[in-house]
Amino acid sequence: MEVTNKYVAIKANIDGAPQESDFELKNGSFSLLVKPGSKDVIIKNLYVSIDPYQINRMKIASDSQTTSVFATMIDPGKVIDAYGVGIVIASGNPEFEKDDYVVGLLSWGEYCVYNGPYLNKLDPMGLPLSYYVGALGLSGLTAYAGFFEICKPKKGEKVFVSAASGSVGNLVGQYAKQFGCYVVGCAGSPKKVKLLKEKLGFDEVFNYKEEPDLNLALKRYFPDGIDIYFDNVGAEMLEAAILNMNLHGRIAVCGVISEYTDNGKRAIPDMLSVIYKRITIRGFLAGDHMGMFPEFFSTTIDHLNTGKMQVLEDVSFGLEGVPSAFVGLFRGDNVGKRIVQVSND
Ligand code: NAP
Repeated sequence: MEVTNKYVAIKANIDGAPQESDFELKNGSFSLLVKPGSKDVIIKNLYVSIDPYQINRMKIASDSQTTSVFATMIDPGKVIDAYGVGIVIASGNPEFEKDDYVVGLLSWGEYCVYNGPYLNKLDPMGLPLSYYVGALGLSGLTAYAGFFEICKPKKGEKVFVSAASGSVGNLVGQYAKQFGCYVVGCAGSPKKVKLLKEKLGFDEVFNYKEEPDLNLALKRYFPDGIDIYFDNVGAEMLEAAILNMNLHGRIAVCGVISEYTDNGKRAIPDMLSVIYKRITIRGFLAGDHMGMFPEFFSTTIDHLNTGKMQVLEDVSFGLEGVPSAFVGLFRGDNVGKRIVQVSND
């Protein structure tokens, strides 16, 4: 049976800050039947993830496009793959049955067909399906692997996290607090600052947009220096953090969102500081740490069930809202994990 599949596409490659007008809602014809002999899984998308890295896939060229299977170039007019949760409509793969919930690489569309390795059956265990897109999905793994594996924390260490109210950042702060670190975050509005301090228990939070000198701001919040910096933004914030790092400090470079939409913007780190303070600066991709998934998952479920961690998510309804949800990431519109619910569970 053929249906119409609505999906979101870019009109042309994007250079600079994305606008809603860079996107279009397209209609494709889509078969709900499995091709005979194929291992295709036909999926109705329920919740799809809205992630900053997609902007690097939309550019005419970016280093990211050739270094990760998840970050290949997006062609104008074509379906955009994205992490999400869906429900199986039909399957030629014996591992999946009709009505199974699945999590993995879906699309910014109503339906998708998948026959690759990045799809798993999902037992929601009574928790909202959206949790599996964010806190219990790749954002969670990014925060967990980045903090524990890349930053190698010790109890009592002083941790700084940028974009702290975002999907990854809020979880890094919460893991660090649970582990026994002193945690300072920065975020881009008074509302976000209040929420991180009052709801998520960060020790201190500041609004970086109100700080004329980021170096001085960090000196104020870390009079004894920073041991760990979890970087989500790059540029000036990374430069300021390096100036305030302690000896043998660790910096996990998770993302550099302030540089994604501005080709002229790059961090100019004080390398003398890096050398003499023996700072480790390490970039990482969550996809390289899938081996930590079971540990991450059981720890996080435990923290959620015992109320030690909170889920911060920002869910809107309707596929047509994907462009504004995505564009808003670069304006700081979101509080927590940005997700679009495409259809009802
Ligand atoms: P997010 O933090 O939920 O959303 C983006 C946030 O970034 C915005 O809410 C905004 O918060 C902040 N931001 C936007 N433009 C900024 C700018 N010019 N300067 C400073 N802050 C800005 O997104 P996320 O999914 O959690 O991703 C966070 C970072 O991690 C991104 O850089 C992303 O690419 C990266 N990431 C990496 C991996 C990996 O495997 N390495 C995986 C997932 C995500 P404010 O209001 O605070 O400005």
